[in-house]
Parts: sequence; structure tokens; C-alpha cells
Amino acid sequence: TSFGFENVGDGEKQRRVDDVFHKVAVRYDVMNDLMSAGMHRVWKDALVTALNPSRSRRWRSLDVAGGTGDVAFRIVEASRGNAEVTVLDINGSMLEVGRKRAEQNGIGRNLAFVEANAEALPFDDGTFDAYTIAFGIRNVPDIPKALAEAYRVLKRGGRFLCLEFSEVDIPPLEAFYEAWSFNAIPRIGEMVTGDGEPYRYLVESIRKFPNQDNFAAMIREAGFGRVSYKNYTGGIAALHSGWKL
Ligand code: SAM
Repeated sequence: TSFGFENVGDGEKQRRVDDVFHKVAVRYDVMNDLMSAGMHRVWKDALVTALNPSRSRRWRSLDVAGGTGDVAFRIVEASRGNAEVTVLDINGSMLEVGRKRAEQNGIGRNLAFVEANAEALPFDDGTFDAYTIAFGIRNVPDIPKALAEAYRVLKRGGRFLCLEFSEVDIPPLEAFYEAWSFNAIPRIGEMVTGDGEPYRYLVESIRKFPNQDNFAAMIREAGFGRVSYKNYTGGIAALHSGWKL
């Protein structure tokens, strides 16, 4: 079977993505460590450092495609409990794992979990001080729609930060990375979940995602100002930043 994006509509894309995350939810955190060799932790820490969460006033942050809560937990911690973070995900299984982890970590008070689509956020205009999305936007079928929604729910002066796999700009690393993603990742997926196919699909989705400059242009197109990006690990991941001015 091929999981190519070519001939499937948005509804079918979303259904396939949902299948993957329903299947892996309880093993998601372990898989993340294995597949990124722990690097996802470093990249998420970098996102939170860039956000520079206020520790002196209450503020609201929205973490879209928040999954099991990794980014949200880090923001609450870095804000010393001043951030109220809404974790939004289309997948109830991922949120359920996140909810349990939040309880165990004793930070449930600062968090809300909302099951919804990044393309249609169930919040009023100008609700949040910050919007984050980590390794989520490439899974969303209509990216311009998700970006327009991000812009809408942010307050004026609000910050947009997106962490995503991107284009590797160091040739030797690129060769290694290709081998890793097309061979190792589906194999690890198969070992842990019994099915490697969904991971082939996820790896393919990384290839189809626009590169750093093209994605920056899409963010500008959605209305954001002072758009910039930073590469991590030679561009394996990139952090895009924008402001609702
Ligand atoms: N942000 C988390 C992290 O970095 O560990 C989770 C990332 S996980 C690779 C991608 C997440 O995107 C999944 O939890 C999936 O359910 C979610 N997702 C996919 N399509 C979505 C959509 N249209 N709206 C909201 N979330 C979506």
C-alpha cells in the first residue's frame, strides 16, 4: 500500500493522520524519544526559550496539535505557574495521555484540554497571548486555514511559534537523515507498534512540507509580521516565529 498524499482529499488525509495517532497514543512519548534520538526534547526546550514565558503576570497560551502535552508542560514550568495553557488536539486518545501525565506532574490546574481541529478553533478572536504548534502543522490538511485561525485567536502583540521538521542544509547530515527516516523510523515503528506503514506516511509528510523560506512566506501571507526562523540540528527541525502586530 502507498500512503502517498497525491490523490487523496483533505478528509482522507486527516483520517489517516488520526488513525496513526489513535494507534500510537499510549506509546507516543517513547516513540518520540526513539525516533528523534531524544532530540525532540532539545528542540522543544528551544521553542520555550524563544517564547521566553512571563513569570510575573498571568497570561494565556494555546498549544495546537498539543498531543500528550510536552510543549504545554514546559511552558507552565518555565512560567513558574503563571501561564494558563490550553492543549488542543484533534485526537482524544493523545489528549487522554496528556491529561493523565498532567495529573501525575501536579500541573493540571494550569492546563485545559480541548478536542478540536486546528482549522476551526473554538475560541473568540483575540483570546491568547501566544500560540504554539510543535510537529503538528504538517499533519493539518489545510495549512493556510490553520494559520488564519492562529492569527485570529491571538491578541494584538501576540506571538506565533511553530516547530516543524524542515529542509536539511548540510549534505552529509542530509544523507544520514534520509537513511534514518526512510529505514530506521518505519522499523522502529514496526517494532514498537507492530505496523511500520503509518511511519512511512509520516516521513513522507515531512518531505512534502514547504521548506523554511516557503513556510515563512505562508506565515506572512496569514498576516503575521516580523516573521523569522531558526534552524536546529542542521535544519532537521526549524522554529518559525511571527507576531500579530
Ligand atoms: N505537539 C506534540 C509533540 O510535539 O509532541 C504532538 C505532535 S504529534 C507528531 C502531531 C499531533 O497533531 C497529533 O497529536 C495529532 O492528533 C495532531 N493533529 C493532527 N491533525 C490535527 C488537526 N487538524 N488539528 C489539531 N491537531 C491535529
